[in-house]
Amino acid sequence: MSIEKTFSIIKPNSTLDNNIGNIIAVFEKNGLRVSAAKFAKLSKEKAEGFYIEHKERPFFGELVNFMTSGPVLLMVLEGENAVAKNRELMGATNPANAAEGTIRKLYAKSVGENSVHGSDSHAAAEREIAYFFERNEVVNRF
Ligand code: ATP
Ligand code: MG
Repeated sequence: MSIEKTFSIIKPNSTLDNNIGNIIAVFEKNGLRVSAAKFAKLSKEKAEGFYIEHKERPFFGELVNFMTSGPVLLMVLEGENAVAKNRELMGATNPANAAEGTIRKLYAKSVGENSVHGSDSHAAAEREIAYFFERNEVVNRF
């Protein structure tokens, strides 16, 4: 077991539904600590760049529109096996398939408006943290 970092986004449906606290509570109760955070409204360019791997998918335009439709909370989460733990706590992409008690089961509206993003590998976590946070922001002291 090792302490890892992963990257998380609370998506616009959940910031606007007042579920930021409820979602962070799930992380905190399950051993993940918020070690950096920024509240932001993403530009179209930033959202497109983030989801570039999905550029050819039919839902790409809808995904970018949604991710720029309201504020998001960008976070670094830290804890034991943080990448896998976060994915487990999030639940399946489509809330209809998400396990009981997962964030998407509790708070997602649809496969598109699905409350949270989480890095799906260690390489993705490193890349995504670098995309949104300066190196010197990802620390716990000032
Ligand atoms: P994320 O990358 O946001 O953590 P994920 O890894 O569970 O989610 P991906 O396959 O990477 O799922 O899809 C990225 C995002 O694109 C999904 O979270 C969802 O918001 C959106 N998406 C995926 N499939 C669909 C679909 N069929 N229709 C609409 N939106 C979709
Ligand atoms: Mg993904």
